[in-house]
Amino acid sequence: IGGHPTPQAGPTKPSGVDRILAIASGKGGVGKSTVSSNLAVALARQGRRVGLLDADIYGPSQPRMMGVSQRPASPDGKTITPLHAHGVTMMSIGLMLDPDKAVVWRGPMLMGALQQMLGQVAWGELDVLLVDLPPGTGDVQLTLCQRTQLTGAIVVSTPQDVALLDARKAIDMFNTLKTPVLGLIENMSVFCCPKCGHETPIFGHGGVKAEAEKMGVPLLAELPIDLETRLAGDGGTPIAAGETAAAQSYAALARRLID
Ligand code: ADP
Repeated sequence: IGGHPTPQAGPTKPSGVDRILAIASGKGGVGKSTVSSNLAVALARQGRRVGLLDADIYGPSQPRMMGVSQRPASPDGKTITPLHAHGVTMMSIGLMLDPDKAVVWRGPMLMGALQQMLGQVAWGELDVLLVDLPPGTGDVQLTLCQRTQLTGAIVVSTPQDVALLDARKAIDMFNTLKTPVLGLIENMSVFCCPKCGHETPIFGHGGVKAEAEKMGVPLLAELPIDLETRLAGDGGTPIAAGETAAAQSYAALARRLID
């Protein structure tokens, strides 16, 4: 009786990790995981110590995109040893789950899994940890923003109206939670025909730029629809590991984010 109330634990960060960037999107399928893996690889190529945490509970795609499949070890039963691929230290919720089973978890379980991946994975010394979030504005995003010292969030969208509408909601959520929005990325911008060079704006073009201006956040990159990017992601070696124009775009994005 009359004791002090338990102080609410403030946001934390794994020791040894310098900054944490969340990669978000309003809806699925816009390329959030593709951007996350490529940005991670581009940063690693520039000599940064990079971690990639795949927190997309409902559709973890980083094991495939980064080309890893083994279950991470836990020699002491407490800490989890992360995996390494393309110069990136990584962990995915997908490596702990049966890939063919749907995840039907309630909020507290999701939060537990996220906290475990942040707190129990031996991330080591990192300049930056990228967190590939599930799409939308749910429990995982909320927990991450409230319990973790996030440096900021990046929102990926296609230029299509339906995607932009949801991207706006994601930005609004980060603003409400006082997480700095570092910028927007327009993915699947235009398609440049490899045969004739003609450019087709399949999902429109410039919509994200206009939205970024309206919301007062920087437009960080406009990335085209590119067959090689898709094939590289499916093949487990992100396009950023190569020397193509797409790889250069990711290198520029990496420099812009961390200089
Ligand atoms: P999200 O994480 O938003 O659900 P993904 O990164 O999984 O989206 O991308 C969805 C699909 O679109 C994947 O098959 C991926 O390879 C493909 N994709 C993403 N970005 C591009 C791009 N710029 N060009 C071509 N294909 C892309």
